[in-house]
Amino acid sequence: MNFFMPTKVIMMEDCVLKNSALLKNYGQRALIVTGAKSAKSNGSLEDMIQALIVQDIKYDIFDKVMANPSVNCVYEGADFARERKSDFVIGIGGGSPMDAAKAIAILAVQEIKEEELFLGSYGNQVLPLVLIPTTAGTGSEVTQYSILTNVQSQTKTSISTPLIFPKLALLDAKYMKTLSMEITINTAVDALSHAIEGMLSIRASDMSNNLAIYSLKKLVYCLRFLSPDYSSSSLTIDIREKLLYGSMLAGMVIAHTGTTAVHAMGYSLTYFKNIDHGRANGLLLPSFLRFIMKSDQELIKKILSIMGLETIDEFETLFLRLLGEREGITEKDLERFAGIAINSKSLTNTKVVPTKEELIQIFSRSLQIN
Ligand code: NAP
Ligand code: FE
Repeated sequence: MNFFMPTKVIMMEDCVLKNSALLKNYGQRALIVTGAKSAKSNGSLEDMIQALIVQDIKYDIFDKVMANPSVNCVYEGADFARERKSDFVIGIGGGSPMDAAKAIAILAVQEIKEEELFLGSYGNQVLPLVLIPTTAGTGSEVTQYSILTNVQSQTKTSISTPLIFPKLALLDAKYMKTLSMEITINTAVDALSHAIEGMLSIRASDMSNNLAIYSLKKLVYCLRFLSPDYSSSSLTIDIREKLLYGSMLAGMVIAHTGTTAVHAMGYSLTYFKNIDHGRANGLLLPSFLRFIMKSDQELIKKILSIMGLETIDEFETLFLRLLGEREGITEKDLERFAGIAINSKSLTNTKVVPTKEELIQIFSRSLQIN
């Protein structure tokens, strides 16, 4: 058995205010990294500022993180952290601000050239990280990954190092009350994808599989309450908590197993077609499971049965109900996207590695061909 999870996770109502004393462990001056709007309207930023004031910790705010954060954005954040002499970094938001906070925590204290950022060799210094998720999907609050938009390689690339496991993750589902149904669905689908991909990874272990199964059961229970036709105000705090818990567990799964071909393929849909991250994975999953089924029927049957399903057709129907009409791509896109995915590290992390031809087939069955 070999499982590494160094993040202290606290999940409860008002956990930011109730655990403010823990923040003292990380220094006297915090840099809060967040997006432009949502943290200000869902109460998370206000709670954190209150917690910092109670503990007499000074703070600065970097609120310029956009969805799918760019390399430029994290260098700008790191310059700001240096200028303000931040002792630690607090990331508040969905996966984008949390991932940006992780990269900033390294770049604030290590000189790394842009062309070396994704090469995987880093020094030992990093600012301590505290993360507060406000979406229930990425699990970034418990992973060692920071995923950035990489214009150089025309895809999204990860910084992956145990250095950026957060010291502390504070999970309060009340911040999710303001999430639209669309973002709730896309992020839930991302979490589902993490749990499923964890089971399709060559690095899956008994421990990660059990976390994945537990996560899938929590998430699948919630799916009946999610639909593009329902208002997000119909979601109770109990459902929000289950989604957040399930997504955190799925984060622990991928921290151990990595993601697979599905994420590798999804990055092109986000980079070139601007399809939301979770949605991109969800569009690809049914055809990807069909592909794996040809070589490992038992594994796919197991995943389906955990989800209370019998066939991949049922799985596909469930995902189509959640995701609605699929986007269109061209034959030229297919070739290009498969050409990029084939070079991705996470492709070879998959139990059955698709060839470029097979990637093209999976893409073409997952989207509408124009
Ligand atoms: P996101 O890009 O962080 O946020 C999407 C949108 O949701 C933004 O407009 C954001 O607004 C808004 N939002 C966030 N919280 C909200 C709330 N409580 N109420 C209302 N609106 C809210 O989306 P995400 O799906 O959570 O993260 C996706 C990113 O995570 C991708 O870059 C993906 O590659 C990455 N990811 C990372 C990992 C990992 O292990 N590190 C795993 C999977 C995915 P504001 O901009 O105003 O905040
Ligand atoms: Fe993801």
